[in-house]
Amino acid sequence: MGRPRWDDAEGGIMKAAVLNEIGGKFEIADVDIDQPRAGEVQVAVRASSLCHSDLSVSQNGYGYAMPAVLGHEVAGVVVAVGPGVTDVEPGDNVIGCLTGSCGQCEECIRGDIWMCTRSSTTARGADLPPRLSIGGRPVTQVAGLAAFAERILVHRSNVVRIDPAMPLDRAALLGCGVITGAGAAINTAAVRFGETVAVIGCGGVGLSALQGAAICGAERIIAVDVNPSKLELSRRFGATDVVDASEVDPVEAVVDLTNGTGVHHSFEVVGTPATARQALNMLRRGGIAYMIGMQQPGTELTVDPFADLVLKHRGIRGVYMGSTNFKRDVPAYVRLYLEGRFNLDDLVSQRIGLDAINDAYDDLQAGRVIRSVITSF
Ligand SMILES: [Zn+2]
Ligand SMILES: [Zn+2]
Repeated sequence: MGRPRWDDAEGGIMKAAVLNEIGGKFEIADVDIDQPRAGEVQVAVRASSLCHSDLSVSQNGYGYAMPAVLGHEVAGVVVAVGPGVTDVEPGDNVIGCLTGSCGQCEECIRGDIWMCTRSSTTARGADLPPRLSIGGRPVTQVAGLAAFAERILVHRSNVVRIDPAMPLDRAALLGCGVITGAGAAINTAAVRFGETVAVIGCGGVGLSALQGAAICGAERIIAVDVNPSKLELSRRFGATDVVDASEVDPVEAVVDLTNGTGVHHSFEVVGTPATARQALNMLRRGGIAYMIGMQQPGTELTVDPFADLVLKHRGIRGVYMGSTNFKRDVPAYVRLYLEGRFNLDDLVSQRIGLDAINDAYDDLQAGRVIRSVITSF
């Protein structure tokens, strides 16, 4: 390839975990990363954590062209910026988030940047070389970040500066899983003091949904999972009750725990039709079931609109990124963490090297870990 390994102004060759085919393993390879162009930021990655949705993408594709670099929970230090970037500068600690935004569409103007309708404008146009390539062939930058790598080259809207006191291995978690779960309770559901909540699936997102509900002042916070160690851990994130769905019917158990009424808010984080149905069935009158889990493409859910929804004034709503404007919310989560009021420490199960990524994903799939964070490359 002949390019220098590092030159911040010119880009260079870096190590990355590359996915060459759907259903394949990640392979460590040299990837060419371009220099920052107008509106772009290059970041030296210090921490990149393994979110379950990258595993789903590696198994199901979700339309991404291969080869690809995945990874979208990332924190690091800005090393170079392109023309027109004034909100961050080299030396800044930043967190990346996949919700790049145009800043000009109706959703962005309203502050709802996670719903930007022109987020494709944050990718590079065909008139420029690809941000990532191998031997001159483009490599897909999944979710606009591609964080399983030594460096990322992203649009300025994909990063937010954070307090340098924040440890970067825990900061990375704020890029996706934590804001998706906590934001679902805080922003989307806007859980009110004294309400009741159930969360089905207690991985990184589900535990964060529990914590979000606790911050909102929910009175009953019920964790549902089939993994006893995750249920035990859920108590450190605000769960008041736990239900082992491998032993009891979770709907009956949740209804019993709420004096026979069901919960105001149920959060489905697993991503199966069965758990989606459970989320609906465990609602009280007026309750809303929030769909967060990544269902397989083409999955259908059968709902009786009159009996399930109208008659009981209940609803179902999809939640994307916890309705999170990350430029607004991430600095707030950082402050809460630094003040000891927000638990991120117990989400980090292990710190690993980039070359251990496949084993760490096996650990995630087997339920042995919540989050593995890559801290050496
Ligand atoms: Zn927009
Ligand atoms: Zn994620």
